[in-house]
Amino acid sequence: MTPHVEPDPQAGAAVKAADRAHVFHSWSAQGLIDPLAVAGAEGSYFWDYDGNRYLDFTSGLVYTNIGYQHPKVVAAIQEQAGKLATFAPAFAVDVRSEAARLIAERTPGDLDKIFFTNGGAEAVENAVRMARLHTGRHKVLSAFRSYHGATSTAINLTGDPRRWASDTGSAGVVRFWAPFLYRSPFYATTEAEESARALQHLEDTIAFEGPATIAAIILETVPGTAGIMTPPPGYLAGVREICDKYGIVFVLDEVMAGFGRTGKWFAAEHFDVVPDLMTFAKGVNSGYVPLGGVAINAEIAATFDKRPYPGGLTYSGHPLACAAAVATINVMADEKVVEHAAHLGENVLGPGLRELAERHPSVGEVRGMGVFWALDLVKNKETREPLVPYNAAGEANAPMAAFGAAAKKNGLWPFINMNRTHAVPACNASEAEVKEGLAALDAALSVADEHT
Ligand code: PMP
Repeated sequence: MTPHVEPDPQAGAAVKAADRAHVFHSWSAQGLIDPLAVAGAEGSYFWDYDGNRYLDFTSGLVYTNIGYQHPKVVAAIQEQAGKLATFAPAFAVDVRSEAARLIAERTPGDLDKIFFTNGGAEAVENAVRMARLHTGRHKVLSAFRSYHGATSTAINLTGDPRRWASDTGSAGVVRFWAPFLYRSPFYATTEAEESARALQHLEDTIAFEGPATIAAIILETVPGTAGIMTPPPGYLAGVREICDKYGIVFVLDEVMAGFGRTGKWFAAEHFDVVPDLMTFAKGVNSGYVPLGGVAINAEIAATFDKRPYPGGLTYSGHPLACAAAVATINVMADEKVVEHAAHLGENVLGPGLRELAERHPSVGEVRGMGVFWALDLVKNKETREPLVPYNAAGEANAPMAAFGAAAKKNGLWPFINMNRTHAVPACNASEAEVKEGLAALDAALSVADEHT
């Protein structure tokens, strides 16, 4: 368990001052932030310099799927650093080939070739490039409620408001509505209705855009950042059929949902679909060293058999990142981490969250699977009015801020996005840790209830 660390507020203050001096943070008004100085982390926990320990219900940015400082992964990185710390992507390197083999073995269908990147956005960029070159078409369809990364094409494809400020509105991106029964864009009242109407809407969008101009449809298998919205039965299979009908490349983005998060190696397995391209990152090596990639099917891989693939990255398949991936995947297999994540979802986290929803007026809906859950917080359960308005900032966001502060006071570090909190512990969190998290959420939700 967590080593005993003496509080050292002075050291914490120095770390924070050094951060504020030169570190420019993502997604932030630099003058308004007060980042927590982290003293250390292990397993499901991290701690600060003031003697506070937090149960991490965010898994970092939903990536520490086997927790912090797993000794086998740390050792593998150290060993690889001593052996061959880096080598350029054009060469065959044992640890790179082994990482690709272990990933290809687990991806569904014939997604057997792996193009490595340094993270999720680069994976999305390259998947889109592959789809465009493979089809000779330009447009890409993506869902409004989605997140695909912050590079140029990836942010364009993204539906979430973080796109707004940097959206160029170009690059052939067309957005459509994907299903989400709780806040149905199609005024549906059943899953079957939602699925059928969403598929009809997608097909109508294709008809009006011109099928022969569309290279790809990209969807998160289970959209994550935008709300962990498990697709209704039949939807993804329907999208697969539509893609086949019009010769469109089907890209599933499993950057967040992949590598055990949903209780399967990849979320696509829950829905019996095989995309043409699948992006991954995060959980592939629990984020110990930046790594992402695209799993490519045989047909698209063949496009680049005789013709060069015009894309690459200096650090593609970096040996340290690949060593971390090999160790992570082996740990997940040996320690049955994926099965454990499914067990937590079915028997501990899912039932625990549903029980909270029954007691707390602020919880409108609980949805998810494995260790991938969202609580949709509302002002009113009947009307489903969100606890804070869409994309609320400042005072308008006060109820969510109060909820977050209460969670932290109770030792839980929560993931908060708009009117939602996501419960996304490590896939190998213990039952006791998950129960501790549920108790802290219970206390924090009582604060949210005051705003209903
Ligand atoms: N796709 C999805 C589904 C994601 O959740 C994310 C990151 N949250 C990305 C792409 C982008 O990944 P990265 O931040 O590693 O570029």
